[in-house]
Amino acid sequence: MPLTAPTICPCGSGKPTSQCCGPLIFEGRHAPTAESLMRSRYTAHVLLAIDYVWSTWSSASRNRTTKEAIGEWASSCHWLGLEILSCEAGGINDNTGTVTFSARYQQGQQTHQHLEKSLFRREGGHWRYIDHCN
Ligand SMILES: [Zn+2]
Repeated sequence: MPLTAPTICPCGSGKPTSQCCGPLIFEGRHAPTAESLMRSRYTAHVLLAIDYVWSTWSSASRNRTTKEAIGEWASSCHWLGLEILSCEAGGINDNTGTVTFSARYQQGQQTHQHLEKSLFRREGGHWRYIDHCN
């Protein structure tokens, strides 16, 4: 993990980054559940680990944006926190799942709340972000 990674995980789990999203983002471990992938993708936005954000997108969804665009957007935001509101399926024995979350961030003077129900699916055994359902 980079030395600059915060001690407490940005995803709001209250766990150390090294025991939460860190190993997924920086050590190539695979997220066991859709929720853990969701959390780690949020943390990757905070830490500007854009390679991870990119690689955890479904291959079919990647043609809608570019890695550069994600990086530019993520670095224009000051991330304020993630709250997981609900999960459906997405467990260790599931192949699909949804996670509803609220992510708050500041851009310039404005504070935004991004509310999304995300769809996740396993590709080649590993969880990937497909799209939002709402
Ligand atoms: Zn985390």
